[in-house]
Amino acid sequence: MSIIYQRVALIGLGLIASSMGHAMKESGLAGHVAGHAKTPATRAAALEIGFCDSVHETAAQAVAGADLVVLAVPVGAMAEVAAEIGPHLKPGACVTDVGSVKQAVIDAVAPHIPDGVAFVPGHPLAGTEHSGPHAGFASLFRNRWCLLTPTAQSSPEAIARLRALWEAMGSNVDEMDPPHHDLVLAVVSHTPHLIAYTMVGVADHLRRVSNSEVIKYSASGFRDFTRIAASDPTMWRDVFLTNREATLDILGRFTEELFVLQRAIRMGDGEQLHAYFTRTRAIRRGIIEAGQDTSAPDFGRVAADSGRKG
Ligand code: NAP
Repeated sequence: MSIIYQRVALIGLGLIASSMGHAMKESGLAGHVAGHAKTPATRAAALEIGFCDSVHETAAQAVAGADLVVLAVPVGAMAEVAAEIGPHLKPGACVTDVGSVKQAVIDAVAPHIPDGVAFVPGHPLAGTEHSGPHAGFASLFRNRWCLLTPTAQSSPEAIARLRALWEAMGSNVDEMDPPHHDLVLAVVSHTPHLIAYTMVGVADHLRRVSNSEVIKYSASGFRDFTRIAASDPTMWRDVFLTNREATLDILGRFTEELFVLQRAIRMGDGEQLHAYFTRTRAIRRGIIEAGQDTSAPDFGRVAADSGRKG
């Protein structure tokens, strides 16, 4: 593949930025990848691993001369970083971000983008429970969605070029209105994470079992909650603080449904439970048909492992 941006600056060098760096290097999509992260240790790691060609002590230095600037810091740090880089952006450059919430990031970043620089907010729907510069890998975005949420500051040319980059890194790209993005993500990602955090918290409160049985028998389903609940605390704190309305809306609906099921259990209403679970099973089938997951038992875990499932 050929170079899409001569010079890319990655601000924040964690899971997402390092995966972008690896993917760009693997396919030769950037002439030079410059990087900045808060701590010297992370900057040194990025150079040593090799997904950046240069690292810089300040974000302002990293964005100098960059054609694409990727803000890959926690959502709560976007405003501070945008304020710092604003005066140093090259005319004609494009700024994007990878934040998990879109309207709050737009509100935080947009005021700092000068005339003549495009801003195309984005969000790759790809990740793992790991974080930091060592967590990234080139195939993270392959066959995963990347949502762009253009604003008045996004020129058609800037959108098309950024779309080409994400597609070259293996993503399928869609465009979405920012508030709609935040509502959809509250349903498919943010609220499920909160539920996983809660379930693991509940198990932790039952101290009697947390030391042995919870771990020993975790393959029964709890294990998948613990994986999600191991996600980065800073990132997820910021997601809930900045996508408050949508997550509270979905959480309210979730609580109502939970009460419905709770009542069905109390009343011994097997018919209602069966009908409910039949509907949800069909949703799982739809996800597999859409190619978003494997139909292999236990998410394709090895047989020896799934044999323990009870
Ligand atoms: P991460 O692995 O925790 O890395 C965050 C990086 O941001 C670190 O390199 C950190 O530097 C740097 N940083 C934090 N505050 C900074 C500041 N004020 N100035 C400069 N650098 C700063 O995070 P991540 O998982 O890559 O997430 C990055 C963004 O992607 C977030 O906005 C998140 O919402 C979004 N996202 C995450 C996922 C996911 O599953 N993880 C998926 C999609 C989108 P130090 O290491 O030096 O502290």
